[in-house]
Amino acid sequence: MSRDVIFDIYDDPGVLLAASVDRSGWPEAVAPRGVVQPRSVEGVRAVLAWANQTRTAIVPRGAGSGLAGGAVGVADAVVLDLSGLDRIISIDPNEQLARVEAGVITADLDAAAGAHGLMYAPDPGSVGISTIGGNVATNAGGLRGAKYGVTRDHVLALDVVLADGTLIHTGRDTIKGVTGYDLVGLFTGSEGTLGVVVGATLRLLPRPARTATASAFFDNIELAARGITAITRSGARPAVLEIMDGATLAAIDALEGTDLRSRGGALLIAQTDGFGAEEELDVVTAALDGAASRIEIAVDQADADRLLFARRRALPALEAIGRPLIEDIAVPRSRLAEAVRRIGMIAAEEGVRIFVFGHAGDGNLHPIIVTEHAPAGAPVPSPAQAAADRIFALALELGGTITAEHGVGRLKRAWAARELGPEVLSLQRSIRAVLDPRGILNPGSSL
Ligand SMILES: Cc1cc2nc3c(=O)[nH]c(=O)nc-3n(C[C@H](O)[C@H](O)[C@H](O)COP(=O)(O)OP(=O)(O)OC[C@H]3O[C@@H](n4cnc5c(N)ncnc54)[C@H](O)[C@@H]3O)c2cc1C
Repeated sequence: MSRDVIFDIYDDPGVLLAASVDRSGWPEAVAPRGVVQPRSVEGVRAVLAWANQTRTAIVPRGAGSGLAGGAVGVADAVVLDLSGLDRIISIDPNEQLARVEAGVITADLDAAAGAHGLMYAPDPGSVGISTIGGNVATNAGGLRGAKYGVTRDHVLALDVVLADGTLIHTGRDTIKGVTGYDLVGLFTGSEGTLGVVVGATLRLLPRPARTATASAFFDNIELAARGITAITRSGARPAVLEIMDGATLAAIDALEGTDLRSRGGALLIAQTDGFGAEEELDVVTAALDGAASRIEIAVDQADADRLLFARRRALPALEAIGRPLIEDIAVPRSRLAEAVRRIGMIAAEEGVRIFVFGHAGDGNLHPIIVTEHAPAGAPVPSPAQAAADRIFALALELGGTITAEHGVGRLKRAWAARELGPEVLSLQRSIRAVLDPRGILNPGSSL
């Protein structure tokens, strides 16, 4: 391998096909022109400088685990695969921060932090496959979001290559600091449309001394959703507060050989952490007393890990049944029960199967419309699309959002425009034009 090579170029049909889809499965599969994998930041800069000069569309891509059609190659575009920039540069236990390259796998960073008694809190269900760059670009949430928030809450500084190849470092390596506009916040969640993230300084937190975990089963998901409000009002603040309906439990059982569905018609998983974890979990379970049909406390860490692993298998379990159209709404937490009841009505009226799970402690629901297996790139069947449109409308009616964490991508552009309104949309497009005047960064995706 020559030391002068700063990126590798692939045009093998198999590689191009793989880069034309993400885990959403829905956007039309169109092979990109090529896939370029930089070996260094200099490689990223060279590719962008060339692309800007030649007006070549660039689609940044981490692991391709996205669920909004954001990282999919389109005709004539070059997919910029950042997975090769995978170094954890440093973990600083004194400052409680990490410096990483964009292609680091999220779980690898958390494990490396763990060796110092620290944790990287954001943990999307895809934590074992997604990259930090992808997490930053989508402002990913995760299971621990109920207490620890989303990726943006943990990014202190970013290294970003701009559309013309200029490398900037924005933000700072201190916990506080307000000099200038918050460009870190702007790039976080920008879905590869404002610049390419090549590195990040991330906040780490002390790894909780203890965790305590409960599974609360309910007769139906509406009751479980009411339980979220009861927990919120109880004063407890679980780190994890996940909801799953009975159909999702049955799908997980089928994939994993568990017996969750036989224990109830819906499940809330609550995990508290820190020095008073057990005491706080008592407050959570007391809040559910009478409403839950059954409450089980995890006997040990392995028991808790099995439960959370089952939750992480929700999406793969539905992928095994058919083709999922994955939605990602958030509503005010006090309206979760109304949301799940009306999603049930939408399913019945449109004649589609909708499975519901999500990070309900954040008000975030993933209603998943599962259709028959179909070849990649096949259009969304119209009843499923009609149901999805009604779910988006419901989220907005209830004062929520059409995407809580997956992003807009190519799949949710029309509804994002509707949520934002013409003035905000126009302002956001002006910002995009300043940072990418030639429109080379992920065209056709996001706003
Ligand atoms: C089983 C499963 C569970 C999931 N659970 C969650 C969850 O709990 N919470 C959640 O938020 N998401 C979840 N996701 C979705 C997905 O994993 C996240 O959106 C993740 O952040 C994407 O990371 P990635 O590296 O795969 O990015 P990709 O899918 O490759 O890209 C996603 C977007 O980011 C852009 N991008 C990627 N890397 C860069 C970069 N370095 N610079 C600029 N732009 C970039 C792409 O252009 C694209 O728009 C889940 C997905 C799966 C398959």
